Amino acid sequence: MNKIIVIAVLFTLSTALASAKASILLTNAKIIDGSGSPAIMGAVRIKGDRITGVGELTQASGEQIIDVGGLTLAPGFIDTHSHHDYGLKTNTDALPLLSQGVTTIVVGQDGSHSFPLEKFFSQYEDKPASVNMASYVGHNTLRHKAMGEDFKRLATKSELTQMRELLSQELSAGALGLSTGLEYEPGLHSDAQEIIALAQDTAEAGGRYISHIRSEDRFFWDAIDEIISIGSVTGMPVQISHLKLAAKASWGKTARLLNRLDEARSQGVNITADIYPYEYWESTIWVLLPDRDANDLKEIQFVLDELTPADGIIFTHYQPEPAFAGRSVKEIAKLKGLGEAQTVAYLMKESAAWSKDHDNQSAESIMGRSMRDKDIAALLTWPHINLCTDGSYTGHPRGFGAFPRVFSKFARQMKVLDVEAVVQRMTSNAAKNMGFTQRGEIRVGAIADLVLFDPDTIRDRASLLHPQALSQGVVKVWVSGILAFNNGSTTKARPGRILRARK
Ligand SMILES: [Zn+2]
Repeated sequence: MNKIIVIAVLFTLSTALASAKASILLTNAKIIDGSGSPAIMGAVRIKGDRITGVGELTQASGEQIIDVGGLTLAPGFIDTHSHHDYGLKTNTDALPLLSQGVTTIVVGQDGSHSFPLEKFFSQYEDKPASVNMASYVGHNTLRHKAMGEDFKRLATKSELTQMRELLSQELSAGALGLSTGLEYEPGLHSDAQEIIALAQDTAEAGGRYISHIRSEDRFFWDAIDEIISIGSVTGMPVQISHLKLAAKASWGKTARLLNRLDEARSQGVNITADIYPYEYWESTIWVLLPDRDANDLKEIQFVLDELTPADGIIFTHYQPEPAFAGRSVKEIAKLKGLGEAQTVAYLMKESAAWSKDHDNQSAESIMGRSMRDKDIAALLTWPHINLCTDGSYTGHPRGFGAFPRVFSKFARQMKVLDVEAVVQRMTSNAAKNMGFTQRGEIRVGAIADLVLFDPDTIRDRASLLHPQALSQGVVKVWVSGILAFNNGSTTKARPGRILRARK
């Protein structure tokens, strides 16, 4: 071999080795590590998918330097209650999420998940999007598999056995635990015993429990007691989904609620919660009537007086009359020349008829104004709470703006929390509440999911009228050390992973 070729080969080898080992140094960063500790100025080193240095660091040889100009660097935000998985199938760049700083989402919520989970996971791994994903096993999904359309009753012994077998299969695929949606069919027809049996199995498999509890308004306090008792009987961590005070009668009772949760914690129940920062929820209109009786005008009037006013019930879509999308019950009542309660009854019956003609597909979705910012602010101060979007690619603006909104509205405007405390609720609290041990903090050895943002300008722009407006203020996002979002655009990388529990 002649000398020049030898040198060329050595040179190629050494550059290949250097790039395999190359690290990136993010300098001049205001580091908020996620633990709640005050920000420090310094640098963060990323090598491969890991954080390998934090603090006062100097450039290593061959290392790429990115001066981040004093912007805030935090762990990637974790959304513990998301419905974005459907939209991610076709929008793998995850723009609504990355533009909020979200790097991990947890799906399989409200009792429904993509069955079978192993297939869902491997499809995602074959064609990943830009965010990490974990999933719960949904009780409603299991109940539907075991009981079919004949579900408006308690399960038989053999049906429960079938649910337990399916649960075990899905937990083995790496689900975080069991999720319930006890305000929805078919789960609302289950009794406490059914839930406890499935919860016991989940606890024995090392899982956890997350719940859209049995009532968020009329029977709220009983529903809180139910989830506490599930935590107490099984000994596993339990999380309340999208915590809210959603009835006039419970407005302002944040101290009563947090005292109840703290009391349970002091008795050894590991209970936590997630929350999204809006006065509006989104669901089916039927959730307003636990007995699902559209002829019960007295009950509907109670809903309008005590839970959600007619001008605060807005359709995001309505299949029988698509033009009602974006309109409130109050507006539709005027159009129809009906009373408000009669209008709700009419809309429910029409939607039921439409569903019946369309293979039981869902006919509508509403946003309902039932909460108050003042209560949300008080709940956000609870040290065990974490943020979620409860969002998707359609409908409620929360899917595009929930995380930035906490900075703009609750930190800057209402001054409820400082930036470090907000970040903590989006990162280490979320990781703890989901059992993620590798994420949610900036520390040596953690996975390099990182978000760079400007805490003075980060804000949501999505609104009821423009629910898909992207948020502003997030500058760069890395997922497992790979740049996935840069100055308002996504990159070509699709670094999202499936986070399997107990694997
Ligand atoms: Zn829910």
